[in-house]
Amino acid sequence: LADRDGKIWMDGELVDWRDAKIHVLTHTLHYGCGAFEGVRAYKTDKGTAIFRLEEHTERLFNSAKILRMPMPFSKEQLNEAQKQVVRENQLESCYLRPLVWIGSEKLGVSPKGNTIHAMVAAWAWGAYLGEEGLKRGIRVKTSSYTRHHVNITMTQAKAVSNYSNSILANMEATEDGYDEALLLDASGFVSEGAGENVFVVKGGVIYTPDLSAGALNGITRNTILHIAKDLGIEVVQKRITRDEVYIAEEAFFTGTAAEVTPIRELDRVQIGIGSRGPITEKIQSAFFDIVNGRNPKYAHWLTPV
Ligand code: PMP
Repeated sequence: LADRDGKIWMDGELVDWRDAKIHVLTHTLHYGCGAFEGVRAYKTDKGTAIFRLEEHTERLFNSAKILRMPMPFSKEQLNEAQKQVVRENQLESCYLRPLVWIGSEKLGVSPKGNTIHAMVAAWAWGAYLGEEGLKRGIRVKTSSYTRHHVNITMTQAKAVSNYSNSILANMEATEDGYDEALLLDASGFVSEGAGENVFVVKGGVIYTPDLSAGALNGITRNTILHIAKDLGIEVVQKRITRDEVYIAEEAFFTGTAAEVTPIRELDRVQIGIGSRGPITEKIQSAFFDIVNGRNPKYAHWLTPV
């Protein structure tokens, strides 16, 4: 990924892709205090547009606030930077990665005396859990790793350090032949996927864990709440047990990268019909209509680049 043509926005300037480098003594690299976002831009009839840009930037600033990192740029600058990298790299649909990190002036756990930095890169990235996964659903394993307790790390921050837990869970699951991991919170209730929020469908009602289970407040999750309302489907946010997923009629993951991915199996237990269920399909199709600019009601969620 580092060796390619293109431009990356770094601390207010567009730099050549291969020159977007930092020092090995960068504080964030050693202690893991940093914040990032995952954003997508989609091709629409009116050109390429970034989906829910404002909300992603807002969450990035909230993450930085939670992590006590004073942002060196304004939201407007970060929004503009995101539009700029999509344009400059001539991307039609892509993934964007803004990141905020602590500099390399000094080490030691205290970050005081260090500068704060920001970057935004963008590149083409297809279906995170595979095209096949979007259509037929994926196979998921309950992780042996517990998701973060809300007072061990800050779960409402999209913090760099939160992801070692995700990496371990994802590696364990994929090395065992599954597509993704489902993590439980410290009390044993369903929290989220390694990089996705989770939903289950039972008796025509959609359930998703409330955020006290340590799940990230996903922007796709929020989009699903809007879609369900439009479709007249009730959504309940509550504590969910692992066996409620086994006996659900449908289940799906959501995320900027994962979009809306059906889950067809958990721990080798088939969920519902064992492929994408009818409510998941409706939600998924409404989601793709919105992100691709085919639903005028949500045109304000699309920022042209
Ligand atoms: N949970 C985790 C741990 C994630 O990494 C992500 C991806 N950002 C999500 C949930 C989904 O969030 P969003 O829909 O905002 O991408």
